[in-house]
Amino acid sequence: MNRREFIVGATAAGVMSGAFAKEGPAGLRIRFLGTGASDWKGLDERGEWRRWSSILVDNAVLVDFTAQSVDQLPAGVRPEAIFYTHSHRDHYDPAAAGELGVAVPAVRGLAFGETVEERGVRFTCVPANHGTSRTGERAGMFLIEKGEERLLYATDTGGIMAEAARIVGIDAHVRDGKPITALVMEATMGVGYEDDFRIYTHSSVDTVARIVRVLTATGRYLPPPGRKVYLTHLARTLHGTHAEVAAAVPAPLCPAHDGLEVVFGK
Ligand SMILES: [Zn+2]
Ligand SMILES: [Zn+2]
Repeated sequence: MNRREFIVGATAAGVMSGAFAKEGPAGLRIRFLGTGASDWKGLDERGEWRRWSSILVDNAVLVDFTAQSVDQLPAGVRPEAIFYTHSHRDHYDPAAAGELGVAVPAVRGLAFGETVEERGVRFTCVPANHGTSRTGERAGMFLIEKGEERLLYATDTGGIMAEAARIVGIDAHVRDGKPITALVMEATMGVGYEDDFRIYTHSSVDTVARIVRVLTATGRYLPPPGRKVYLTHLARTLHGTHAEVAAAVPAPLCPAHDGLEVVFGK
């Protein structure tokens, strides 16, 4: 299978996940329907495409979704809920649900710290360090929990804010905190963009690497051996090709790609 097939998706993996769906997923199943930032518009001159960032959780729930990712949903999957992080157009497009044959969802706000359970998976909204042009809107991200797994899906955000860390249970002031076991985080910027103005609203590869080092050293990130930290929301203009990014990032970081499916836990 070549890179282009991976990026464009619609591979055998989609068929497989449909089969898993009938049996009921074990573990926490994350399928990346998009891994790009807003500057992606389609196949680029390198023959690659990262759709706007979106994930499918346990074949049933979406976090962010736009029309770009309609072709990435496995056949037969009809999402039951969509959690949106914020209203930027590369994340938020309720009308796109209409293209899936389901009703355009009624959208309601979530409070930070509020947990909603869907299909046995708990989604808790925590604040992101990210701004929008809408007065009063605050961007969020999600702690996604199932069984012993605690995944922080962090996009869009410049680092992890103290208030988010407190709610998640990884803040310095939380006595009986709970470590996260998995991390998917945005790296809008590649290596060498630490002085980029977006560093206050987005993260870079170096941001994620530093966070992983600190959380690991302090016992706040406790993954099983060998687990990767997946990077998403990669800007077309601030990264090389997928292969170049994969070669450039330090372990345990790993760029996700459209169509990638990961199961956390058993
Ligand atoms: Zn974005
Ligand atoms: Zn944004």
